[in-house]
Amino acid sequence: MIDYDSYEGKFTSNAPLGGQSWFRCGGRADLLFEPKDVDDLAVFLKEYPKDEPLIILGGMANCIIRDGGIRGCVIRLGKSFTEIEVQDNKIMAGAGALNGSVASAAAKAGIGGLEFLSGIPGTIGGAVNMNAGAYGSEVKGVLISAMSLDRDGYFIPFATHEMDMSYRHCGVPAGTIFVGAIFEGVQEDKEAVRARLKEIKAKRQTTQPISEQTGGSTFANPSAKELEQAGLPEGTRAWQLVEKVGGRELQIGCARMSDKHLNFMINTGSATATDLENLGDEIIRRVYKEFGLTLHWEIKRLGDR
Ligand SMILES: Cc1cc2nc3c(=O)[nH]c(=O)nc-3n(C[C@H](O)[C@H](O)[C@H](O)COP(=O)(O)OP(=O)(O)OC[C@H]3O[C@@H](n4cnc5c(N)ncnc54)[C@H](O)[C@@H]3O)c2cc1C
Repeated sequence: MIDYDSYEGKFTSNAPLGGQSWFRCGGRADLLFEPKDVDDLAVFLKEYPKDEPLIILGGMANCIIRDGGIRGCVIRLGKSFTEIEVQDNKIMAGAGALNGSVASAAAKAGIGGLEFLSGIPGTIGGAVNMNAGAYGSEVKGVLISAMSLDRDGYFIPFATHEMDMSYRHCGVPAGTIFVGAIFEGVQEDKEAVRARLKEIKAKRQTTQPISEQTGGSTFANPSAKELEQAGLPEGTRAWQLVEKVGGRELQIGCARMSDKHLNFMINTGSATATDLENLGDEIIRRVYKEFGLTLHWEIKRLGDR
């Protein structure tokens, strides 16, 4: 039995999580824990029953919280996990720090190479876990190491080469909770770095529906092997397949694909998480029917339908 009063962090029962996700819809979490610091989190992980479901979430910029809600406990990292420290050309960031804040801190210090993070909503923990990337760069390319706690609350550091990172994938053991990361960039002229940040901001505004209720790329781009097996041209992107199967016109409730970027699903008002998921599944079904290729969800769908 957990003694909730013995923790310094905050517990919320029946927490309205979906409304806080980027899609602004979906269900609740049975229990939300926002640990005060790493020690608080480590003690909790040691005490929390191993057979109870547990998940860590960051900015919820890449997930659908299903309408039936999430069983067990959701952990979200609070303020003490948002610190950012610069040392020479290295940046140490808590896993709860926003990617945009890390990119800005790097630019302010004249450290180049991390600008791409400014275009990726969410936290460092989520970015490391997803090996997030944009504009030809990805986390793997600038990450030196990550600090984590395992499901039992033990501190585990990882060097990047131990993390089996690939396109939108990080191969650390299930249950790993990142608590911080160290990145390395290159010393550059501050104005040049700032100019690239500005460029990325402008590019995002014209190519992504960033002011909409969305969750980033809905489907992973098919691999070269998948395209070859389906007889599709090399380099075909997920959005092109969405377009080919009539995804631009498809609407389920208030769920549709964005005109600005056809691989971005949006909630235009009162979509439910089920509407969003049904829309994605319908596109997957159509693409398979027409091309024999299975699109894979990039967005995480969490909880019960
Ligand atoms: C408008 C928009 C544009 C986007 N553009 C891009 C883009 O260009 N490139 C890109 O890669 N992504 C993009 N995304 C998707 C999203 O921003 C990234 O996937 C981001 O890394 C998610 O971070 P998060 O903190 O929100 O994670 P969440 O959505 O909260 O979680 C995502 C996954 O990471 C895990 N996770 C979260 N925190 C931790 C932690 N501390 N330790 C271990 N696991 C953790 C969760 O369990 C979950 O499996 C975009 C999203 C939006 C809404």
